[in-house]
Amino acid sequence: MNDPLLKPEEQVLSTLRGDGTRRWLKPRLSRGKFLLARRVVAYFLILLFTLLPFIKIGGKPAILLDIPARRFTILGYTFLPTDTLFLALFMVGLILTIFLITAMFGRVWCGWACPQTVYMEFLFRPIERLFEGTAGRGGEPRADRPPFLKFLKYPVYLLASFYLANTFLAYFVGAETLLKWVTQSPLKHPVPFLIMGFVTVAMMLDFSYFREQVCIIMCPYGRMQSVLLDKASLIVSYDAQRGEPRGKLKKNAGQLPVLGDCIDCGNCVTTCPTGIDIRKGLQMECIGCTQCIDACNAVMAKIGRAPNLIRYSNQLRDQGLGNSLLRPRVVLYPLLLLGIASLFGYLMWNKLSFNGTLLRPRGNPFTLVEGDQVVRNMIQIKLVNRTEQDMAFQFKVMEPADATLSVKEPEVKLSGEQTGIFNLEILAPRRDFRAGRALLKLDVQNDRGESTVLTMDLTGPFN
Ligand code: SF4
Ligand code: SF4
Repeated sequence: MNDPLLKPEEQVLSTLRGDGTRRWLKPRLSRGKFLLARRVVAYFLILLFTLLPFIKIGGKPAILLDIPARRFTILGYTFLPTDTLFLALFMVGLILTIFLITAMFGRVWCGWACPQTVYMEFLFRPIERLFEGTAGRGGEPRADRPPFLKFLKYPVYLLASFYLANTFLAYFVGAETLLKWVTQSPLKHPVPFLIMGFVTVAMMLDFSYFREQVCIIMCPYGRMQSVLLDKASLIVSYDAQRGEPRGKLKKNAGQLPVLGDCIDCGNCVTTCPTGIDIRKGLQMECIGCTQCIDACNAVMAKIGRAPNLIRYSNQLRDQGLGNSLLRPRVVLYPLLLLGIASLFGYLMWNKLSFNGTLLRPRGNPFTLVEGDQVVRNMIQIKLVNRTEQDMAFQFKVMEPADATLSVKEPEVKLSGEQTGIFNLEILAPRRDFRAGRALLKLDVQNDRGESTVLTMDLTGPFN
């Protein structure tokens, strides 16, 4: 009556008690065919996440995100700072793919492949169970374990976090560089070392403290589920028609009202890593991990009833409205993806093996020479050799037709993946200028026969 705390009318969060303190979850492990399949997928992914920076495609890393140099190598192809359009198309394509997969298969990513779930459930949670043991229902730690043994999980967590932080760093600096760095003093490369230390601490906090909070509160993808899913998307759901009215198994069942198949054992709840009761229907906290399916199937097998009281389904099917494979979003997303893939392919196919940009250096915009009848513009050309071989270039002025060009460097050559800036002098007759401007069209050709025309306004007198 005199409780100073205002009690919430209903449970706000599965991990929050009525008084606002955290409900720590110790989910019980439920063995079954889904856990087995997820284990195979998870350990394959852990291996893949670790090896990906070491894998080479065409002599280049499969993934290298070199942020200081603004060079992103993805599947062996290097995107340079000038490839904004390619990167934008790639990112939009990626986002649309995520939308499409979510619309069709719900939170399959969260439950099966997200690094948060994979490392939490298949690396950190097993370490915890190893040191703490599990007793009774709910995966609670065993009371007879000495405290120091329970504490020992933290140094092992730290080691695991250190390994994860180094794996993470390899994506940004490359596996070879990382392997070299680990043999050297951290003082030789303090910034990456600090970043690695920060990521280690972040991983440690994530997997020992935040845990399921990352999925149910922090993750933006998780927050967007209500708009990404539709009624035909695949979800993990409880068959209420078959399960209700639920009730405990009684020996003398004949005298009781006829009950559904759910015996209210609570195993689907105590196994849930986000602490929810799937029997209350689809909830934002459900990450589709399938542990409740395995838990319930084991119960059904024990009491001799058909499996799949909790199963993969969708909201239409649950409401007895049939199924609909063809919905607007599963048609629209692939169409958009096809458009983006075609544009990406077309641009890639027509892409040159070099980039060129004309620049105007600081200083006098122009000077008049030869009795003030010729305008002299000093400009620069920035060239990027996208290949790994040497490349030479030649220039030709297309417009103004009677302009002449001289290159100030002895030779315009770039070695593999090199960027260079070269000085050009353009001499154009004064009569070519209108309102102080004349359009320059410069043909740039490399020694492979590829060419492009660059344009820029030359500056001159207003006549
Ligand atoms: S409700 Fe089931 S599928 Fe969803 S998170 Fe909990 S255990 Fe996993
Ligand atoms: S595990 Fe199955 S039988 Fe047990 S409470 Fe959950 S739905 Fe009911």
